[in-house]
Amino acid sequence: MALVNEHFLKLPGSYLFSDIAKRVNSFKVTHPKANLISLGIGDVTRPLPPACVEAMRRAVDEMASADTFRGYGPEQGYPFLIEAIIKHDFASRGITLSPSEVFISDGAKSDTGNIGELLRWDNSMGITDPVYPVYADSNIMCGRSGVRNEDGSWNNITYFPCTAENGFIPEIPDHRVDLIYLCYPNNPTGTTLTRAQLKKWVDYALANDTLIVFDAAYEAYIREDDVPHSIYEIRGAKKVAIEIRSFSKTAGFTGVRCGYTVVPKEVTAATIDGERIPLNPLWNRRQCTKFNGTSYITQRGAEAVYTPEGQRQVKETIDYYMENARIMREGLSEAGFKVYGGVNAPYIWLKAPEGMNSWQFFDRLLYDMNVVGTPGVGFGPSGEGYLRLTAFGRREDCLEAMQRIRKRV
Ligand code: PLP
Repeated sequence: MALVNEHFLKLPGSYLFSDIAKRVNSFKVTHPKANLISLGIGDVTRPLPPACVEAMRRAVDEMASADTFRGYGPEQGYPFLIEAIIKHDFASRGITLSPSEVFISDGAKSDTGNIGELLRWDNSMGITDPVYPVYADSNIMCGRSGVRNEDGSWNNITYFPCTAENGFIPEIPDHRVDLIYLCYPNNPTGTTLTRAQLKKWVDYALANDTLIVFDAAYEAYIREDDVPHSIYEIRGAKKVAIEIRSFSKTAGFTGVRCGYTVVPKEVTAATIDGERIPLNPLWNRRQCTKFNGTSYITQRGAEAVYTPEGQRQVKETIDYYMENARIMREGLSEAGFKVYGGVNAPYIWLKAPEGMNSWQFFDRLLYDMNVVGTPGVGFGPSGEGYLRLTAFGRREDCLEAMQRIRKRV
């Protein structure tokens, strides 16, 4: 008899998006003529940059001919993409990386979910609250989160609340935590850390021998100078941080699938006897055993992001989304709402009016304005009283939604 990994049975159901769908569907039954606008969508809507499409077409043609056909590629990714990443994403910011420190993958979700395999199951861990759910769930699956408390939190997870009261800046813990996940620019709050604020986390990690997993999936949306694009802009970070990036929100690759993880040679973890073990060869081993590489066609598409046309086209699309974000931020502020995020990220974090919780506010927007958001409490208890809106929709929808909101408030 095969015994099941019972940690999976502890996973809380992922009810958020099905609960939203249920409420939206019952609204539709009673309001069949309503023109609903969804600002809750977490997926991009603009098509791929033409430079990427062209590069992928050329790659398909190569695959169609015996002379240029490619089978299995390197598990770590093709050198042409790794070199483009190092040159454009890191060297341009004064960060030196060697090709063997960059691992191409099929996206940031896989890497953020899998990276914990390198660490013992009983490390303590910390996450911000609210949070992208993969960090907690992937650790629950291997038992690292410990036992579930009555309030739904886990006894081996330290939570760093991020609310308007602390300016969405997580407080440095007053005790040691082995593994910490940080996501900046942040999903869901759309907020960022300045260089000085991120430095405090790196200094904490250096002083406490903590490993940071830094998820920079929204790096391309950063607009302000003082916001670091990579954790390696902070001195000492290469000793303590693994950085994960994605082409999903940068270049519309949510359906194409490509991302990468940087595991610097200096970053280590300890054996129970205190011996320091570099994580880079471990991740390499993990990938070679369990991953057979991102497709050649996809990697050629991702490489094209770094060409001059690719850069121009990617910027155009991101500018489009960020203009949506500006319209929403300003429209909602004018309507009297407290609005956070949306300056260096495609997410707007909207405070519910006094006395309303996330779901009540969700219903109010749905019924009074026919606008759909995502209740903040779905991302963690500190998200209660907020709603997440995304800038990934169509311009017309953003404008129309703001008009409705201004009229009805
Ligand atoms: N990390 C964060 C913070 C995200 O919000 C998302 C997607 O929404 C991902 C990672 C997943 O990215 P990918 O499409 O590369 O798997």
